Amino acid sequence: MIAYLGLGSNLETPIEQLRAARLAIANVNGISEIAFSSLYCSPPMGSQVQPDYVNAVMAIETDLLPLELLTTMQHVENEHGRVRNERWGARTLDIDILLLGDKVLDLPDLIVPHYGMAERAFVLYPLAEISPDLDIPKYGKLADLVACCPLDGLERLSDAA
Ligand code: ATP
Ligand code: MG
Ligand code: MG
Repeated sequence: MIAYLGLGSNLETPIEQLRAARLAIANVNGISEIAFSSLYCSPPMGSQVQPDYVNAVMAIETDLLPLELLTTMQHVENEHGRVRNERWGARTLDIDILLLGDKVLDLPDLIVPHYGMAERAFVLYPLAEISPDLDIPKYGKLADLVACCPLDGLERLSDAA
């Protein structure tokens, strides 16, 4: 199954965090990388004063079960120094599961497609860069979502290293 992950960091050299996360994810048994977007810079959501984020989207092929993938990604977050404090607070690494093939899941710990992806520029634009023709369960064509989504300050930074 092809899955898409949304990565974000705004602490402790975010570009390095995403580079390390990419390697860690690609090295998990049962996961292989298919594509990785450019790096993007985006202002934080909400009103808290915190640094800008660096974001990217990664496409993987995986045979892990959905909840196995979730706990594996949480393990990678924790290994990369993530401290869980307030929602949307600054963090070294956030890995969100955006899509799992064409699955629709509404579990207590896992909502797929990710509940916020349809209106988040820092998800939609990098996703469209690597898979412009996606059709997203519940939300429709990615190209239509992008067309309706303002950039909200999102800027392309560079190719991912
Ligand atoms: P947001 O989810 O709005 O982007 P966040 O990424 O900061 O906020 P986290 O603290 O990383 O939120 O995760 C909170 C909870 O979200 C996790 O405990 C996890 O169980 C749940 N969750 C539900 N659906 C997903 C998903 N598709 N990907 C990752 N976590 C999910
Ligand atoms: Mg998130
Ligand atoms: Mg998260």
